[in-house]
Amino acid sequence: MQQMLKLAVFTLLVTLVTTATAQVFNTTRSPKGDKEWPVVKEGVTVKVSPHVYAIPSESVPGVPNVGIIVGSKATMIIDPGMGRLSGEAVAREMAKVSKNTEVYVVTTHLHPEHTTGELAFPQAKIIRAAAEQKDIDESGMYWVNIFSKRSPERAEILKDATFRTADEIFEREKTVDLGGVRVRMLYVGPAHTLGDTAFYIEEDRVLFPGDLAMKEIFPAFAMPQSSMRAWLTSLEMLERLKPAHVIGSHGDLADGSILSANHELLSTLQTRTLALKREGKTAEATGKLLVEEFKTKYPAWDQPVRVISAVDAIYKETP
Ligand SMILES: [Zn+2]
Repeated sequence: MQQMLKLAVFTLLVTLVTTATAQVFNTTRSPKGDKEWPVVKEGVTVKVSPHVYAIPSESVPGVPNVGIIVGSKATMIIDPGMGRLSGEAVAREMAKVSKNTEVYVVTTHLHPEHTTGELAFPQAKIIRAAAEQKDIDESGMYWVNIFSKRSPERAEILKDATFRTADEIFEREKTVDLGGVRVRMLYVGPAHTLGDTAFYIEEDRVLFPGDLAMKEIFPAFAMPQSSMRAWLTSLEMLERLKPAHVIGSHGDLADGSILSANHELLSTLQTRTLALKREGKTAEATGKLLVEEFKTKYPAWDQPVRVISAVDAIYKETP
C-alpha cells in the first residue's frame, strides 16, 4: 500500500513537472516544431527606463513589442500579444518585474496580435479609446478569422480568441496614475486603423506609438478609414512630446528619431502622390510607380508594397 501511494505521488509529481515544462516550451516555439509560432517570447524582457519594460518582438511576424509599465500601486500591459498563450507568457514576464495586483491591459489597436492576449488577464482592467471599441465591435472577430486562416499555427493560437468587455472607454485622452508614474493614453487615429491609440509614459519619456511609427517598416494603411492627413497630424503631435525612447508596435526598439523618419517618408509620399494625381494618373498607376520609386529611395525599409494602400488613402481623401 505504502509503495503504491509513493508511486502515485511520484506519478503526480512527474505529471506536474512535465505540464509546467510543456507550458514554458509552448510559449517560445511550437510543440510540433513548426516554423511559425507567433507567441510572445519569454526570458527576453528588457528594462527601458525606471518604470518601463519591453518584451521585444524580435521581428517575429504576428508578435508585437509588448510594454510593461510598473508603478508603486499598479501595472499596465501594452499589447499583450496574440492569443491566450501570448497573454500567459506576458503575465509570467510581468510577475518577474512587478508584484502589483492591480493591473491594466491596454492595446494600440484592434488587430489580433495586439489584443487577444488580454484573455489571460481576467482580473485586469481593460481601457480602450471609443474608436478602438468601435473597430472591435465592427470587425474584431472578422480580423481574428482572417489571421486564423493564415496558417494552422495561428488558427491554434487563436482558437478560443474573443475580446474582453472594456471596463472604461475614453474619447480623446486619458491619464492613468500607476503610482509615481503616469501613462497618457492618446487617441491618434484614424491612421493604421480607426482606433489607433498611443501611450506616453511621462516621467520616463517613453512613447508607444502603435503602428504609427516603426523603425524602417513602411506604414500600413490597413482600414477603409485610414487617413494620411490624420496620420501626419498625429505624428506631429507625438513629435512635440519629444520622447527619449520610442517603442513601435513592431520592429526594433528605437528613439525619437523614428517619429521624424516616418513623418518625412509619409509627407514625401503624400507630395509625390498628389503630383501624379494632378497629372491625371489613376491611383493604381501611381501606386505601382511609387512602390518602385520608394524601394529605391528607402532601401532599408521593409514592406514597400504598403505604398499602394497609402496611395489609395491619399486619392480617397483629396478631391
Ligand atoms: Zn495592426
